[in-house]
Amino acid sequence: MKKHNFSAGPCILPKEVMQKASEAVVELDGIGLSLIEISHRSKEFVAIMEKARSLALELMGLEGKGYQALFLQGGASMQFLMTAYNLLDKKAGYVNTGTWSQKAIKEAKLFGEIVEVASSQAENFNHIPKGYSIPSDLDYLHLTSNNTIFGTQIKEFPKTNVPLVCDMSSDIFSRQLDFSQFDLIYAGAQKNMGPAGTTLVVVKEDVLGKVSRKIPSMLDYSVHASKESMFNTPPVFAVYVSMLTMQWLKDLGGIAAIEEINERKASLIYSEIELNPVFSGFAAKEDRSIMNATFNITDEGLKEVFDGMCKEAGISGINGHRSVGGYRASMYNALPLESVGVLVDIMSELEKKG
Ligand code: PLP
Repeated sequence: MKKHNFSAGPCILPKEVMQKASEAVVELDGIGLSLIEISHRSKEFVAIMEKARSLALELMGLEGKGYQALFLQGGASMQFLMTAYNLLDKKAGYVNTGTWSQKAIKEAKLFGEIVEVASSQAENFNHIPKGYSIPSDLDYLHLTSNNTIFGTQIKEFPKTNVPLVCDMSSDIFSRQLDFSQFDLIYAGAQKNMGPAGTTLVVVKEDVLGKVSRKIPSMLDYSVHASKESMFNTPPVFAVYVSMLTMQWLKDLGGIAAIEEINERKASLIYSEIELNPVFSGFAAKEDRSIMNATFNITDEGLKEVFDGMCKEAGISGINGHRSVGGYRASMYNALPLESVGVLVDIMSELEKKG
C-alpha cells in the first residue's frame, strides 16, 4: 500500500534520493567500493564533501559572500552549545518560541548572560512574539525559524545590527529568504536534507574569533572551516545523502520551486482546518508553519474513526507531540502534494460522518 509519511522526522527524502543512496552503500558510482568503506580522504569523498558544501551555499545564494558551509556532528543540539561557545563573550539574546529555543537557552547560559528578549511561553507557544526590542549590546540574537513541535514559523525576521543566529533545523531549504541577514544558520540534516548524523552550519567568517575563551578544537568553527569540514572523520553517508537531496532540489528549480509546492501543501491543509468544524488549528493564523501543521479534533468521539481512516489510507506519523496533543502533519520538502490531498479528503469525509 502507498504510504503517506507525515512524520516530523527523521527523515523524509525523495524516493530517487533514497534509491541512489542505497545503491551507493553497495557500490559508489562504479568504483567497485562502497561509499561507506572508502577513505574520507579519497578523491571521491573529498569531491562529495566539496559539492555538498558548495550546493548549500549556492541554494542559499551565499556563494562568494564570506560564508563557510560545514557538515558537523552532534545534531542541532550540539549547536545549542557550539554557537554560544564560539560567539558569546558577554551577553546574548534569545527569542523563546518553544522547546528547542528553551534547550538552546539552557546551554547558552553556561557561557554568559542570556536575555530572553521575547517569549510566547505563557500561551503555550501558539504564536511568534513580535514588536520586541533588541538591546544593542548583545553579542548575537538567537532565533528558531520554525518550531517543529508547536507548528509556528517566523515570517519576518527582526531588522537589527546585532548578529543573527538561527536554528533552521525544520525549515531549511523550504522557503526563499535573504539568508545573508544571518551570521550563523544551523540545521540538523534529518528533516529536509538527509539522514540524522550531520548538521549543516553556515557561518559568516567575520563573526568568528571574537570571544576571549579558548575553544576545544572539535567545537571550534574556525578549526572546522580551516580543514574544509574534514577536521575528523565526517559522517560520510549522511553528507552524501544530503548532497544528493540538495542536488535534487537544485534540479527541481531550487528553493523558489519547492517553496511554491510547500505553499500549496500548506494552503490545502490550512483551508481544510479553517472550514471543517471537526478540526481546530493550534497556531495563530499569521504564524502558521508551512512545514508542521498542528491541529486538534473538536469532537473527541470522532478520534478513533479518524485514526482508523488515516490508517486505512496509508497515512502515518500524524500524532501530535505530547506537549501540544492532537495532530501534527509535517509536510517537509519531499512529501508530495498528493499526500496532503489524501489527508484533506479524509478530513472532509469525517465531517460528513460527524
Ligand atoms: N531544533 C529544532 C527546530 C528541531 O526540530 C530539533 C529536532 O527536531 C532540534 C533542534 C534538535 O535536533 P537534534 O536532534 O539534531 O539535536
